[in-house]
Amino acid sequence: MSDSLLDRANKGILGLKPYEPGKPIEETQKELGLQKIIKLASNENPLGISPKALNIISSYDDLNRYPDGNATNFKEKVSQEEGVKTSMITVGNGSNDLIEFVSKCFLSEGDNAIYSQHGFAIYPLAIKSTGAKAIKAKAKDWGHDLSLMKDLINENTKVIFLASPNNPTGTILESDKIIEFLDDIPSNIAVFVDQAYFEYIQEDKYKVPFKLVEKYKNLIISRSFSKAHGLAALRLGYAISSEEIAEFLNRVRQPFNTNSLALAAGIEAIRDKDHIAQSVEINKSGMQKAIDAFDSLGFEYIASFGNFISFDSKKDSDSSFDFFLKKGIILRSLKVYEMPNHLRVSIGLDEEMNAFIKVLEEYKKAL
Ligand SMILES: *Cc1c(COP(=O)(O)O)cnc(C)c1O
Repeated sequence: MSDSLLDRANKGILGLKPYEPGKPIEETQKELGLQKIIKLASNENPLGISPKALNIISSYDDLNRYPDGNATNFKEKVSQEEGVKTSMITVGNGSNDLIEFVSKCFLSEGDNAIYSQHGFAIYPLAIKSTGAKAIKAKAKDWGHDLSLMKDLINENTKVIFLASPNNPTGTILESDKIIEFLDDIPSNIAVFVDQAYFEYIQEDKYKVPFKLVEKYKNLIISRSFSKAHGLAALRLGYAISSEEIAEFLNRVRQPFNTNSLALAAGIEAIRDKDHIAQSVEINKSGMQKAIDAFDSLGFEYIASFGNFISFDSKKDSDSSFDFFLKKGIILRSLKVYEMPNHLRVSIGLDEEMNAFIKVLEEYKKAL
């Protein structure tokens, strides 16, 4: 046998590259010797964690104990809040975990799953790591082309990923369109609707109601605590699905995938409606600032329903990214998303947006 160990790895892994997260603040500070760095790169909540959630973490003293593997209290809170049965909930170490569970449950070699061009990068990673084929549907106006996604279905299709709002484009789907799609496709294909930015959605027509999973047994809806709830470091998300699917997802879930601090903080974050409302307000005003600046400086942007906005930097985004970085602003280059000139800016606090806009003005002059 001549193959090396690495050649003998699960074939799906061979073509993958590790996901590249937003540049961390400390490392950048050291690298560039800058005093102040503003990170607008990973769609985090600039307001920070809810004080109530922080309080519960600070006083938590059972860290020698394993977490509650069934996340009982957390599920009960979600159940009360959202009117779903606890048996329909699957908890994740971030909602990325749930994307993996769905892939693991339904995909293996010979199967395929469909996602959208410019769609969230974790979908093809999770799909390919199972050995299945990731089919990319060309985007339409930067968003998901549901009719094309339907046309790409074949007998080996088992999962379809929809992000609404999508990251990094910020595009959104009306829930009626998702319902039409569910009616149009075979019910033996899992449809994963990723609503990581749910709290930022202003209009009801875009909110995908959990009660749909009662009618559509193939529908899985995910939520994250990393964005509006401000708990990105703790890793917490959940999915709502039929009880049957939840039971499957839980088969591949590690029993202690969500940690005690995350579960306790998650409950407080759900309770702290003021914190969410304030976070949404900050996002609204920061988004307006960004849009006004893009308009007045003549940069094209993609209207966004999330807590970030992507704009055309008019040149290779590696070099525009560097321009901002050297001035202490970390943005996100969207090259890996097939958007070679686009940068994504996460919406920050007012003063952070002002700093971004100041550098944007300098960037425009230097173009
Ligand atoms: C940020 C993000 C997630 C959430 O990731 P977590 O694992 O919950 O931190 C999921 N989907 C999309 C589209 C995102 O942008």
